[in-house]
Amino acid sequence: MGAIIIDGAAMARQVLEEQKSAAGLLAQRGCVPGLAVVLVGDDPASAVYVRSKERACREAGVSTFDTRLPAATTTAEMLEKIDALNNDVRVHGILVQLPLPAHIDAVTVLQHIDPAKDVDGFTWRSLGALLDGHALLAPCTPSGCMLMLERAGVPVAGRQAVVIGRSSIVGKPAALMLLQRNATVTICHSRTPELAAITRAADILICAAGKPRMVTADMVKPGAAVIDVGINRLPDGKLCGDVDYDAVQERAGWITPVPGGVGPMTVAMVIANVIAAAGRLTS
Ligand code: NDP
Repeated sequence: MGAIIIDGAAMARQVLEEQKSAAGLLAQRGCVPGLAVVLVGDDPASAVYVRSKERACREAGVSTFDTRLPAATTTAEMLEKIDALNNDVRVHGILVQLPLPAHIDAVTVLQHIDPAKDVDGFTWRSLGALLDGHALLAPCTPSGCMLMLERAGVPVAGRQAVVIGRSSIVGKPAALMLLQRNATVTICHSRTPELAAITRAADILICAAGKPRMVTADMVKPGAAVIDVGINRLPDGKLCGDVDYDAVQERAGWITPVPGGVGPMTVAMVIANVIAAAGRLTS
């Protein structure tokens, strides 16, 4: 019997419907939640991501403030723009689309965002709060993974969870969120020896390495929940995750597809963060 497929696209639509109701309640108080998306340069993949976030905003009743800047924008100009958005009362969430051009100091720019408007959850203040178990605005991709586990009915407390990847935007916050839900958590990375022996012990496996189909069926415990965060472009142009989906879905208990899994949930969680931020900033 194959795994239960956790349909991220359908779940994201449901989250957006819920957020639309929440935005409606804010509108009754005279607040229209607003998201500013800052896009620098003309990277086509980034433009696609920005459009999908703007579309989700429209669906949920969130207004967007589209800020496109030329590729030659300097770090100082970026900081000025972030200052303006920090001070704009119509803007409740600020999102800087990554990657930024190499000449811009991305760390300085991201840390300049007002933590109250940090809907990506990347500022040190947001990450520190998450570490201490008091999430302000939590990073959207791991939040989306956790909501998928919850709504699919995957037990987390007391289970063995393994996260492949230790980035600050996915792997580490995912591990913290699993820990907070009382899983026993192992974080693996490129220097982890005997990876398969570790992943085979996992009841929950979150894969965020960015390596196409690196997680093969023999690395997965029968019945495990496998959440595939990876988005990889193959030479033929198709997208695939970090998980060898066809083989693993025969063995896993739950699995998320790519595309149509964590990706749409990430976008939905951005919207949820904007509405949460708007609620706090206007209460
Ligand atoms: P990073 O490149 O920042 O991090 C990748 C992590 O994977 C690193 O910690 C790296 O280890 C680890 N890693 C790489 N190769 C291996 C390996 N062979 N074995 C074990 N660990 C390995 O990526 P991100 O965290 O930003 O993103 C990860 C993936 O998720 C990418 O495919 C990205 O496109 C996708 N993504 C998807 C999102 C979505 O909405 N679905 C959102 C964000 C990202 P080390 O630290 O040692 O280098």
